[in-house]
Amino acid sequence: MVNFKRSSGRTLTEMRKMYAKVGVIPNADGSAIFSFGDTVAIAAVYGPRQLHPQHMQDPATGILRVNYDLLSFSVYERKKPGPSRRSQEISKVTEWALSPVLDLKEFPNTVIDVQVYILQADAGTRTAGINAASLALAHAGIPMRNLVCSISVGKLDKNLVVDLDKEEEDYDEGEGATDFPIAKIANSDKYTLLQLDGKIQPEVVKKVLDLADKACDEIYEVQKKALKEVTEQ
Ligand code: ADP
Repeated sequence: MVNFKRSSGRTLTEMRKMYAKVGVIPNADGSAIFSFGDTVAIAAVYGPRQLHPQHMQDPATGILRVNYDLLSFSVYERKKPGPSRRSQEISKVTEWALSPVLDLKEFPNTVIDVQVYILQADAGTRTAGINAASLALAHAGIPMRNLVCSISVGKLDKNLVVDLDKEEEDYDEGEGATDFPIAKIANSDKYTLLQLDGKIQPEVVKKVLDLADKACDEIYEVQKKALKEVTEQ
């Protein structure tokens, strides 16, 4: 609906301000920070290195192992530290979103560990985390087909909006809020994550993907710029 106003004053397709920087953790093999407005994710990559215990090693391929978590102070009410069902789910979907661009067969018996921590959460933490992790893998020099870009498109009542913040995720008028986190391989039509939290009509999905594509093009530019900043140093 044309007259719909977002609480942040953004236009329907306007993303929050993005920030990306790589090489933020000197002791990691690769690292990056990525933010959408007040949502800030940091990612560190360690490996590829021999997987222990040895019986978990796969001589045919390496393994990507992601650990995502919200830090206790990232949300208004201190979060109990440690894993939860939510963090386990997001760790898994982040692995699935990133694996298609990696050729893990090049690194038999090894693991690539990716730690993703959310320093500040204002919705869209899995998407910011995927963008940060993708950059950190590239910074670690892991061969990648391309970067992975991730964004959440949502529906507030009947209005499609890009990059929901927490206030929007909690929108409860009309049909309420639907959140549709998406990841795709940059410059391609290959999607590596499609999740849906809420209701959406099948005919609207194409529009959602078109909005995600445009947003991912913008994210890709920010990611490339951050990588260039370190390679040109
Ligand atoms: P995403 O962060 O990817 O949008 P969710 O939809 O699960 O994933 O979470 C939405 C937002 O809800 C988070 O970004 C965060 O702001 C808030 N949130 C999630 N888990 C907690 C928690 N345990 N305590 C407080 N706020 C939380």
